[in-house]
Amino acid sequence: MAARRLPGSLPAVICAFLVLVLSATWAVTTWSEPAARATAPAENSPDSGGTPADVSPEADDDGDLPDDREITPFDTWHPAVGHLDKRLLKAVQEAARDARDDGIEFVVTSGWRSKEQQQRLLDEGIEKYGSLEKAREFVNTPEKSTHVSGKAVDIGPTDADDWLIRNGSAYGLCQVYANEMWHFELLTGPRGTCPALLNNAAG
Ligand SMILES: [Zn+2]
Repeated sequence: MAARRLPGSLPAVICAFLVLVLSATWAVTTWSEPAARATAPAENSPDSGGTPADVSPEADDDGDLPDDREITPFDTWHPAVGHLDKRLLKAVQEAARDARDDGIEFVVTSGWRSKEQQQRLLDEGIEKYGSLEKAREFVNTPEKSTHVSGKAVDIGPTDADDWLIRNGSAYGLCQVYANEMWHFELLTGPRGTCPALLNNAAG
């Protein structure tokens, strides 16, 4: 009896096996696709440096930062970060990685700015402080601003600034102005000595 039932059940076994193989194939394709997509934007991960070529064409090309999200030194898709001088960006990313080990997160509060944006900031400063002379203590002209040339970055919050003031020179990063604890430039070599602070952006 058992021998006569076997040929009958064989096609059923083959069918079941085929269904199993097909569903396994389906599962593999379906699950591997999002995984591949998730690893694609590696540019923004702390482990890879970005270049200006990564800047998204849709991003605001003014260097203006969005209000609704924080930008980190790894958000190279944003012009404020992506247009930074490559050596400065690399140094800031290295520092940000090490600061993270100390529980400190870097936020870019300003990076590269277009000439137009710098002029707007200066105009706002003149309005706020009443004169160009006073405004210049806080905002440079588009011609002189190291933000426009991509050689300056403003970092927040305060604990990140404290960390960078203490450890920045190990990466060549220096506070420049006594009245701006958030503004950093690459002014020395790794483990070098930072130049003396200037009083403000005007001096
Ligand atoms: Zn600045």
